[in-house]
Amino acid sequence: MSNQKKSTSVQMFFRISHHLLMIALVFAAAPREQAQAVIDPAATPYENIVAKMDNLQSQNPDLISRFVLGVNDQGQTIYGWQFESETTALPYKGPVREKSKMLLVGVHHGNEQLSADAVVQFARDLVGEMTNPAAPNHGNIANRIFYVIPVLNIGGYNAGRREEYTTAGRSLDPNRDYPDPCYDGPTFRLQSTKNLANFMRAEGIVGAITVHGYIGTFTYPWGIFTDNTRTKDHDWFAKASRLAVAHNGYQTGTHADAIYPTAGAFEDWAYFEIGAWTMLLELRQNANLVKDSKAMMTFYAQIPHERSFNNAHLGNCRRLEETVIRARP
Ligand SMILES: [Zn+2]
Repeated sequence: MSNQKKSTSVQMFFRISHHLLMIALVFAAAPREQAQAVIDPAATPYENIVAKMDNLQSQNPDLISRFVLGVNDQGQTIYGWQFESETTALPYKGPVREKSKMLLVGVHHGNEQLSADAVVQFARDLVGEMTNPAAPNHGNIANRIFYVIPVLNIGGYNAGRREEYTTAGRSLDPNRDYPDPCYDGPTFRLQSTKNLANFMRAEGIVGAITVHGYIGTFTYPWGIFTDNTRTKDHDWFAKASRLAVAHNGYQTGTHADAIYPTAGAFEDWAYFEIGAWTMLLELRQNANLVKDSKAMMTFYAQIPHERSFNNAHLGNCRRLEETVIRARP
């Protein structure tokens, strides 16, 4: 960068400029991450996340490929990355010999920016888990296909803003935009949520985790307004989540009991409509993402290779007319 032939004052100028740039970088990086430098200070937060994932892909071209989930209401492309090992033989027998498909999604809420970093951390750990036969969950992870989407709400993420805008400029909570068994209000008004739902249906996703923040819980259905918050899969969810939170010490239970019920959330829709084994990870404040990644890995490793067929809602919906519905964090 600096030219030896230039005068000392010019060198001094570049040296000071460099110091100022480094200080600016440190401050720019501080609120979102401690460990890694921002790749390009002129890029948007979303471009930085895409660059990190593209970098991981370029280091593992046989394992990772990029896909397009769709385009959002602002015309921005929502990217995801697919992880699939070509060499792994299917270790299970049964009528279905396809690999089971898993999904991980960060940033429904644009102000929960650490959820994107949690997805990137998991993606890095997933490389090791899928490629190293000695990794703790290798046998139950490498035989699956993972779709990893660090940021669903791009506009919100870039602005540090919870909600997302429709094409018409209306601001909506993306995690109040899905149907559920006790909610018959308007749904799929955002292209982001519509694209995600269509992708899950088309691919036949069997297991999913969405990442939010920041209350330190790892929860499962139901989170709807019902008089019976337990599903017929309750015992499985309870056992699998307890094993997972051994890594991060989070509280677990149904969304409704461990947090509170809401209407129109992804986590209830995915289980209700397509029987996906679906969890909501609420990172804690200043979360240890390595531990959270281990918790997610432990959960994915336990997921059956087929969707749930016991996912019907058997309780009675509570009347929503006089209820103030709070979206979960
Ligand atoms: Zn959230």
